[in-house]
Amino acid sequence: MRDIGNILRADAARLDAALTLGTATARIEVQCLLQNALKVPRSYLLAHPEQVLDATQQASYANLLQRRLQGEPVAHILGEREFFGLNFKVTPATLIPRPETELLVELALQRIPAHGHFRVLDMGTGSGAIALSIAHARPEAEVVAVDASGAALEVARENAVRLGIRNATFIRSDWYAALDDKRYGLIVSNPPYIETGDAHLTQGDLRFEPPSALASGADGMDDIRRIVGQAHRFLELGSWLLLEHGYEQAETVRLLLGQNGFANVFSVKDIAGIERVSGGMLEQS
Ligand code: GLN
Repeated sequence: MRDIGNILRADAARLDAALTLGTATARIEVQCLLQNALKVPRSYLLAHPEQVLDATQQASYANLLQRRLQGEPVAHILGEREFFGLNFKVTPATLIPRPETELLVELALQRIPAHGHFRVLDMGTGSGAIALSIAHARPEAEVVAVDASGAALEVARENAVRLGIRNATFIRSDWYAALDDKRYGLIVSNPPYIETGDAHLTQGDLRFEPPSALASGADGMDDIRRIVGQAHRFLELGSWLLLEHGYEQAETVRLLLGQNGFANVFSVKDIAGIERVSGGMLEQS
């Protein structure tokens, strides 16, 4: 019979050995799986290390752990992921929301007034994590979220309903292709930006995410070039474009912004110290 304390220790070590997650991550993941199997908050696990699981709990936990040991991401196993304090449904149809992307949301919110009408465009919304976090924090703003994938938009729409968010609308579009000529006060995007053929795409959690949400040509910049290149047609003058991008892409993104009519160009580092989001203000169309 294994108690909670024993499971947390032994299975964290097992997960770490199987997936090389690092001890801290492995421990958090086992806690997540166990919380879900037992339907208790994390504090309960920490307060009851001596509790022994009953047969039903043991079976349900063993099933979750087995799936993780085979590589399936925790967010897919649980079907949800927290992002910016909200709980999002997650399926293999979209990118799994990542904590570093919260930086993009914070930078966006700094540029959206707390009150009054304001139009925001989220390009490549996936699960809707960015668009819905913004819409939730700025209920008077109107957020338009675009994705080329119908399956992703279904997840995003479901998240809007689930979170009770009514000021977001969804459009199926290959980047700007299906948009009308309305202009926005802010464009945000976490586009695919990994180099096509990068070995990471076939490793770890990335194997389970849609390649169309991750990879973007030989230098990973194909989609960023499309987004930046056309942004002047959809932004109001004096408005911002904010983009998440990869490790070592910041300088290229800043250059691209400068070449496409943007001023006040900047990059911001994420918690890992990597330049992760860049932006600029449209100066001339
Ligand atoms: N940040 C993700 C990763 O490196 C990539 C997400 C993206 O391409 N937008 O795993």
